[in-house]
Amino acid sequence: MTLLEDVSLQEFNTLSIPARAAYFAEVVSAADIERILANPALATLPRLVLGGGSNIVLRGDFPGVVLHIALRGIEVEENGTQRLLKVAAGENWDALVRHCLAQGWYGIENLISIPGSAGAAPIQNIGAYGVELADVLVAVSGWDLNTQQWRRLSAEQCQLGYRTSVFKAAMQDRFIITEIELRLSTEAQPNVSYAALNEVLSDSESVTPESVAEAVAAVRASRLPDYRTEPNAGSFFKNPIVSAGRASVLKQQFPQLVTWPMADGRVKLAAAWLVEQCGWKGRRQGEVGIHPRQAIVLVNYGRAKGAEVLALAEAIQHSVAETFGVSLEIEPRLY
Ligand SMILES: Cc1cc2nc3c(=O)[nH]c(=O)nc-3n(C[C@H](O)[C@H](O)[C@H](O)COP(=O)(O)OP(=O)(O)OC[C@H]3O[C@@H](n4cnc5c(N)ncnc54)[C@H](O)[C@@H]3O)c2cc1C
Repeated sequence: MTLLEDVSLQEFNTLSIPARAAYFAEVVSAADIERILANPALATLPRLVLGGGSNIVLRGDFPGVVLHIALRGIEVEENGTQRLLKVAAGENWDALVRHCLAQGWYGIENLISIPGSAGAAPIQNIGAYGVELADVLVAVSGWDLNTQQWRRLSAEQCQLGYRTSVFKAAMQDRFIITEIELRLSTEAQPNVSYAALNEVLSDSESVTPESVAEAVAAVRASRLPDYRTEPNAGSFFKNPIVSAGRASVLKQQFPQLVTWPMADGRVKLAAAWLVEQCGWKGRRQGEVGIHPRQAIVLVNYGRAKGAEVLALAEAIQHSVAETFGVSLEIEPRLY
């Protein structure tokens, strides 16, 4: 483990915000975590556990210690058609999906091309194209900062929900994930429940996990800007969830409103549609803007700082609230 001082975080966040960390530690073994936490010089400082930096907004320089999770390794246990994977938190999520596909281990193909680390996947229960991590997660292991112990939490204990988990609620900033366990299968069960995916694949003779992954990757590439050339943090706002009654009132007022019914009777609204209707798509404010093809993706077109990004986000939230009476919640975590 190396502990560095005054490190630029610009390359470590996909919004490319030019902030600096007072201390930066590369975590390559579980023992590194205990070593950093035992360091009296760092004990009272704020901590940021960092994976790929694709779901954070840095408001300014980070005055504490960044623990960059670089743990590697994948272990596989076979049980009939099941494959139980133990994946170290620092493994790249997209590379993991592609590796599993190549091995014929299925279940996460719809989650291809999502940036970031495996360890961060449970934090907001990553999801896309009809599948979410909750469908395959068995458990997570890591260091509990409260009890000062290594613990294994079952998927149920992780309380995964729509873009949320216990790690964004009761256990926020309390657990450093070092490993996730997934249950995949050698039996193909392609999931094409998502309408846009179904459309792309409707002409195919046979739908396979490979063709689903290819279709998802292609749709994503056509819809989402690449953060390497147009720095962004993916969807900046969550899709708001309202009661069925509220949705039907809104639908009367705005017949084009895009909605998805949820299993619990509530209704999810398309944040992108709400933002677009307020005229934000493609607009710029200084060095930050809303992508011309994706109304909920904020792009850093220069060297915008976190404050500029958040000022634009607030302006969008304000106009959506005024027009629709709906509040938009920011998806990335702010530091
Ligand atoms: C272009 C683009 C497309 C995206 N598409 C999707 C999508 O389709 N679906 C989706 O759900 N998300 C999407 N995202 C968001 C993002 O990719 C995911 O949330 C991803 O899981 C974040 O991983 P990360 O390693 O970059 O996390 P970071 O940004 O590094 O961290 C995010 C949060 O998780 C915490 N964290 C990270 N690692 C750990 C750990 N090991 N232990 C404890 N806490 C940790 C951090 O402290 C922080 O609070 C997208 C982002 C981008 C830029």
